[in-house]
Amino acid sequence: MRVNITLACTDCGDRNYISTKNKRNNPDRKELKKYCPREKKMTTHRETK
Ligand SMILES: [Zn+2]
Repeated sequence: MRVNITLACTDCGDRNYISTKNKRNNPDRKELKKYCPREKKMTTHRETK
């Protein structure tokens, strides 16, 4: 049930992280605070396809 997801910065749209999630436990889009190398700061990263 684990699927690969990409985490993209919501500020600049860069796809900075690859992760996996359990579709059954996390049916909604994941949002995480992550470091964006382009902007050199912490931003919200959201799951994208
Ligand atoms: Zn960014």
